[in-house]
Amino acid sequence: MGETFDLLVIGGGSGGLAAAQRAAEYGARVAIVEKDRLGGTCVNVGCVPKKVMWYAAELAHGLVDAADYGFAVERRGHDWHALRQSRDAYIERLNGIYARNLERRKVTLLQGTARFVGPNEIDVDGARHRAERIIIATGGRPDVPDIPGANHGITSDGFFELDACPRRVAVVGAGYIAVELAGVLASLGAEVSLVVRRDGVLRNFDAMLREVLHESLAADGIHLQTQFVTCELRREADGTLTLCSASGITLGGYDSVIWATGRKPNVDRLGLEACGVQTGERGHIVVDEWQQTSVEHIFAIGDVTGRVELTPVAIAAGRRLSDRLYGGMPERKLDYANIPTVVFSHPPIGTIGMTEHEARERFGEDVKCYTGVFTPMYHALTSRKRKAGVKLICTGANERIVGLHTIGPGADEMLQGFAVAVKMGATKKDFDDTVAIHPTSAEELVTLR
Ligand code: FAD
Ligand code: NDP
Repeated sequence: MGETFDLLVIGGGSGGLAAAQRAAEYGARVAIVEKDRLGGTCVNVGCVPKKVMWYAAELAHGLVDAADYGFAVERRGHDWHALRQSRDAYIERLNGIYARNLERRKVTLLQGTARFVGPNEIDVDGARHRAERIIIATGGRPDVPDIPGANHGITSDGFFELDACPRRVAVVGAGYIAVELAGVLASLGAEVSLVVRRDGVLRNFDAMLREVLHESLAADGIHLQTQFVTCELRREADGTLTLCSASGITLGGYDSVIWATGRKPNVDRLGLEACGVQTGERGHIVVDEWQQTSVEHIFAIGDVTGRVELTPVAIAAGRRLSDRLYGGMPERKLDYANIPTVVFSHPPIGTIGMTEHEARERFGEDVKCYTGVFTPMYHALTSRKRKAGVKLICTGANERIVGLHTIGPGADEMLQGFAVAVKMGATKKDFDDTVAIHPTSAEELVTLR
C-alpha cells in the first residue's frame, strides 16, 4: 500500500501542475502522477516547441525581407537538425525546472501510469495510493482518421520528431495545428499541401480572418486543397505517399503526411468504471461549472474536459479549483466566456469573443461591425506583400464590443491587452476615446470608423 494524500492529481501537464502546486502552497498534502515527461503536451509536443518553430519560420520570412531593408543577406538553406537540437535542449531544461518546482513546493511526484481502482484509490504501476480528493488532468492526444493506411502518416507528435524538413508534405486538417504546421513547413523550405474536407481552414473563425489568412497561405506557396475527404493513405512502390479521396481524386508524391484532424481525451486506460466518473459523447469527462465530475470528490480540468483546449485555460481552471478547495475562496471558478486565443499562422491571428456570424445569430439586426483590411507599414518597403486586418463586432445602443479579431504582424502580442478591455465590457466609444499609438497596426483598432 502506498501513501494517503489530501489531493492526488493525475497528469503532470499544464492543468495538473498548476492545480497541484497551488493546493500545496495552501498546505495540502499533494501527489501528482505523470507517466511521461513533466509539462505535458504544451511543453513537450505543443505550444513550446511549436513556438520555437514559428520563430524560425518568422525569421525565414524576415531574411527575405531583409534585402528590401538594405541588408546584403541571402537565405542559404536551413539546418533543421541544429534547430531541433537547441529546441529539445530548451525543453529538457524546462522539464528540469518543473521537477524542481514540485520539489520546492513539497509535491510528491509519482512517476507512472495512474488507474482508478476505487473512488478514492488509484494504482500507479502496481503501487496503490489513496486521497481525499482526486483531480483528473490527463489531457488528450492526436486523433487520426480511421481509414486504410492512416498509420503511414504522422501527427503533431511525429512532427516534433522530424530530424529534417520534408521535401513534399501534405498536412490534413483545418484547425489550429494544421494551419500552424503548414506555415512552419512552408517557411522552412517544404512544398506544402494543406488538405481540407470543406471550403477552407479555421471554419469557426471570423470570415475576415479566414479571407486574409487564405490569401497569405496562397502567397506563401501553400497549396490549399479544398473539398477533399481522405478515405485512404497509400504507400507507393517508390516510397512516396498518396492521399485518396472519397470522390476518386488522388494527391501524391509526398514524403510525409501529417494528420492534424483534432485530438481526443486520455480517458481509455484510466479505469473510470472503478470510480463512476461519467464521460460525454466524445469521451471527454463531464464537469459542471466548478470542474466537478459526476463524483463529488473527483474533479477534472484541461483538455480532458474538452472545453477550450488551451494551456492558459487548463492552468486557470486548475489554480481556481485549488483556490476554492484549499484556499478559502468558495466562489472561485473559471469564467469560460471571452477567452482570447492566438493562431500562430504567418502572420498570426488574435481573436476574442464572437464572430460576426455568431453575433448576428444571437443579436439579429442589433450588430454593427467595423472592419479594416490594410497593408502594414512593414510591407511598404518589402517586395513580399501581406495584408493585415482588424474587426470589431459591436452590439446594443452603446456598441459594446462582443468580438475583436485581428490578423497581421504583432497580432499575437497585441491581443492580450485588448482582451482585458473586452472582458471589462469596453464599448466602441471607449476605443474611440483611446489615443492611438502611431505608427503601429494596433492603432487601427482604435481608429475604425
Ligand atoms: P496535457 O498538457 O496534455 O497534460 C496531460 C498529462 O497527463 C500528460 O503529461 C500525460 O502524459 C499525462 N497522463 C495522461 N494519462 C495519464 C495517466 N493515466 N497517468 C499518468 N499521467 C497521465 N495551447 C495554447 O494555449 N497555445 C498554443 O500555442 C498551443 N499550441 C499547441 C500546439 C500543439 C501542436 C498542440 C498539440 C497543442 C497546443 N496547445 C496550445 C494546446 C495545449 O497544449 C493544451 O491545451 C494543454 O497542454 C492542455 O493541458 P492539460 O493539462 O489539460 O493536458
Ligand atoms: P481543431 O479542433 O482545431 O481542428 C481540427 C480540424 O480538423 C477540425 O475542425 C476539422 O475541420 C478537421 N478535421 C477533423 N477530422 C477530419 C478528417 N477526418 N479529415 C479532414 N479534416 C478533419 O484541432 P487541432 O488538432 O488543430 O487542435 C486541437 C486543439 O488544440 C485546438 O482546438 C486548440 O484548442 C489547441 N491548439 C491551440 C493552439 C494555439 O493556441 N495557438 C495551437 C494548436 C492547438 P473541418 O470540420 O472544417 O473539416
